[in-house]
Amino acid sequence: MAKQEDTFKKVISHAKEYGYIFGSSEIYDGLSAVYDYGQNGAELKKNIREYWWKSMVQMHQNIVGLDASIFMHPTTWKASGHVDAFNDPLIDNKDSKKRYRADVLIEDYAEKILQKAQKEIKKAAKRFGDAFNEDEFKATNPRVLKYLADHKAILSRMGSSLEKEDLADVKLLIEELGIADPDTGSKNWTDVRQFNLMFGTKLGASAETATDLFLRPETAQGIFVNFLNVQKTGRMKIPFGIAQTGKAFRNEIVARQFIFRMREFEQMEMQFFVRPGEEIKYYEYWKKTRLKWHLSLGLGDENYRFHDHDKLAHYANAAADIEFNFPFGFKELEGIHSRTDFDLKAHEEFSGKKLQYFDHELNKNYTPYVVETSVGLDRMFLAVFSKSLQEETLEDGSSRTVLKLPAVLAPVKAAILPLVKKDGLPELAQQIIGNLKWNFNVAYDEKDAVGRRYRRQDANGTPFCITVDHDSLKDQTVTIRDRDTMKQERVSINSLERILEERTSFKSWLAKL
Ligand code: ATP
Repeated sequence: MAKQEDTFKKVISHAKEYGYIFGSSEIYDGLSAVYDYGQNGAELKKNIREYWWKSMVQMHQNIVGLDASIFMHPTTWKASGHVDAFNDPLIDNKDSKKRYRADVLIEDYAEKILQKAQKEIKKAAKRFGDAFNEDEFKATNPRVLKYLADHKAILSRMGSSLEKEDLADVKLLIEELGIADPDTGSKNWTDVRQFNLMFGTKLGASAETATDLFLRPETAQGIFVNFLNVQKTGRMKIPFGIAQTGKAFRNEIVARQFIFRMREFEQMEMQFFVRPGEEIKYYEYWKKTRLKWHLSLGLGDENYRFHDHDKLAHYANAAADIEFNFPFGFKELEGIHSRTDFDLKAHEEFSGKKLQYFDHELNKNYTPYVVETSVGLDRMFLAVFSKSLQEETLEDGSSRTVLKLPAVLAPVKAAILPLVKKDGLPELAQQIIGNLKWNFNVAYDEKDAVGRRYRRQDANGTPFCITVDHDSLKDQTVTIRDRDTMKQERVSINSLERILEERTSFKSWLAKL
């Protein structure tokens, strides 16, 4: 645990030191769970958004984009169920006065049991070597069987209690499991209560006439209310999708995990409209497709896993999370939900307008079913950033801090470094920048010895350093150094554009999908 905390602290301080993330309004001591993205963070975030957008919209002929407003008619949130049911179960510790999400306390407890099972499995794998059969071991080892059964039983009891709104049983479960305040160890808990997460605001010039509005807690509803606008004007045929990225706001009860849980954050969502009865087929398709997208970034396949939901939201008939191994363990990164026809039907009912589709092949009208993929842009940022940050011991015993961001996402693709600040080298470096800047975000760095500049760019996440030396003046060649392998190649200046294209472009990374 201590190691995890250390790693997480390093992530946070590195993000600040290198201009990725600052606390919001820091000069006024900040605002809890609100963050600003600095010069590098803004680029990384933009690149993640674009990587998602291109793979969803540009690569699919039947998916189009949308950019709906943050403010929506207040009835939207009645229809969607958010006014009545967008709650988290909260619990306070009477001694520490700290507030927690009751479901998260229980999930964290269950996760520890799962980790115990995994430890046993790892130990056995080591002991038995090649002869080890993991499935058989899991099915027969009494200790592992017990851990897995306990894990399942806890989550399914919590799921069914939450579904039945039986908050007394959620508290009982916390007590039975002996769950203590993670900070103080106290088990002196209040009852569990529901807490609505939406932020309210007012629209209008005077207090008497102002309308109560909500800041949207998810981008999805902007897509549902525009379903027919897009379908008709885009002449979209089912199955088709509408994708959107944008801000969402939630008054989170506990927001202590940096940009993992923020009060203002950004989502990247896609709603896929399908024939009733075909939703599970597409749900499975999108589960696979989204996982592949994540894996394409090369952060390590072992860092992802699916978590199928026991407790389904009021609108869903199947749901799973793609979980990522964050510095504080496996947590939700993306949700994939089969939302049935709940949202469109509810909006029909509350607006009195038909939101149906005429299927020419079937020759009938119906309300489409929806499969949703929803990933937090900030959580993606944290996933990418935290896995990329590494401390390496080099062959000569020295160490370096390197931010191994996937090159396609890196804020700066290459730094152009004149070996010395004279003899025409800076001028040639600037010429190279003048040529590359049209397609790539490149930086110039002439301060300090070149070795120090390499280290600085390593820590900054820049995948390539291009060094201009005296030979460059004679033969129009430069060295290009790879951040991860630290290998250098001599290449002609003319080939730089092609090389950067091959190694950093959306095309070359997305083509791997
Ligand atoms: P959690 O269980 O962690 O609260 P959720 O299940 O409420 O998340 P969804 O409503 O499915 O989340 O939202 C889709 C995605 O939006 C999540 O997978 C996550 O990546 C992102 N997200 C949700 N809440 C936040 C938040 N407060 N801060 C940052 N990202 C968030």
